[in-house]
Amino acid sequence: MKVFCASIATETNTFSPLRTDLSDFHESFYAPPGKHPETPTLCSAVFPELRARAQRGEIELVEGTATWAEPAGLVSAQTWAHLRDEVLGQLRAAMPVQAVVMGLHGAMIAQDCVDCEGELLAEIRKIVGPDVKIGASFDPHSHLSAARVDNADIITVFKEFPHTDFVEAGVACVDLTLRAARGEIRPVISVFDVRMIDVLPTSRAPMRGFVDRMRALEDAGAALSISVIHGFMAGDSPDLGVKMVVITDDAQAAGDALARKLGQELFTFRGRARPDFLDPRAALDKVAKSGSGPVVVADVWDNPGGGVPGDSTIILRHALDMGLRDIAFGTIWDPMAVRICHAAGEGALLKLRFGGKTSDVAGDPVDAVVRVVRVQRDAVQSFGASVVPLGDSAVIEFQGVQVVLNSTRSQAFSPDLFTNLGIDIANKRALIVKSTNHFHGAFAPVAAEILYCAVDGPYPNDPRRTEYKHLTRAIWPIVADPHGTDGGG
Ligand SMILES: [Zn+2]
Repeated sequence: MKVFCASIATETNTFSPLRTDLSDFHESFYAPPGKHPETPTLCSAVFPELRARAQRGEIELVEGTATWAEPAGLVSAQTWAHLRDEVLGQLRAAMPVQAVVMGLHGAMIAQDCVDCEGELLAEIRKIVGPDVKIGASFDPHSHLSAARVDNADIITVFKEFPHTDFVEAGVACVDLTLRAARGEIRPVISVFDVRMIDVLPTSRAPMRGFVDRMRALEDAGAALSISVIHGFMAGDSPDLGVKMVVITDDAQAAGDALARKLGQELFTFRGRARPDFLDPRAALDKVAKSGSGPVVVADVWDNPGGGVPGDSTIILRHALDMGLRDIAFGTIWDPMAVRICHAAGEGALLKLRFGGKTSDVAGDPVDAVVRVVRVQRDAVQSFGASVVPLGDSAVIEFQGVQVVLNSTRSQAFSPDLFTNLGIDIANKRALIVKSTNHFHGAFAPVAAEILYCAVDGPYPNDPRRTEYKHLTRAIWPIVADPHGTDGGG
């Protein structure tokens, strides 16, 4: 059996002041055919699994391009057309194939294309015809369109947020797609539109128990695959929102019923799945009163992993106003300030303007006389087994505060973001990090306490106030009772 695979992935925040072009894909991750590393990336875990099966002689594998861009703003029309046509050309050259497996993110939006992955899957279907099996793996922070459901035979989604199970989802996508291609199963996809958008971390109740039950149902044979699309509130998509996905073995009615039952339960989680988000004053008051450190404070919305620049100074300014000392910030994205610090050198004392430069809603730049404590070329942090680049970085110190400035955008994943740059976190009163929830796993063991802090900025964090142009379906919290208005979704 001949199988084609490829991966095009990014998460588009259509409200971000940034834009995304081909150089962003090349800088983040770009592997031409045959050059994918042995280890998986978040959205390309189907590659190593397919390779293992090819090595065992189970399939003949034709690899296409695999690429990923760090979440940012709208993808340029030229970039989308280039990547789409690159992969479609590779598929045409590989024909005939019996299966196609795509590692996608699912929240990519380009200039003039609100559903890149739907368009890609539809074009793939046109090339391979109705009988070839197509599998796609998605991040839950994506938009599930009819074009995707109509053209894919298998859809798998990471169940966990943080996405600790991305390899498992890739393996499941490969397994089910190949079983379908061999005629062992006849997958049919059932979708229930839950009609809500919220933050749904699975590290806590009620989502923890829900995911455990999804797995138990799969193990018990209730369905081939059960997934939740969480949606991505920063992407202006007509399909924005939570959707329940159930794949059965030729049992559409049972799949529809299970998707509806689970989806209706999910709807009852609205407004109570996320931890309490404090305002900066309340969060920093708790830091000031805390007897032991470090308290970890997450700047949940200024998260570069959600496509914003990550240069907000709002919480830092609150901390300076309160005179808090012995705290460390990681990170503020400012390549220009990093360059000045590198030119000044370690130990230099200089007047520096940093942060708050990319939008009018992330606070003003900070002007301070700072000491350059550390400069580092190509700094990194870890995220599980993967190494995440921070680019050239600098640690500056002033008024008892240390700030990590970086030049490659990344959310905070791990305390080694600080310790790799010589910052002694055990002696800090607080560590203030930019991340919504992915930080939690690695910071929890070193944190005296974890606080989630919400400040407005370029991330559209309240759907009731966000001016969506493409979203026309009624969803909570924009509409209080979205299912009542049309009889149940
Ligand atoms: Zn995600």
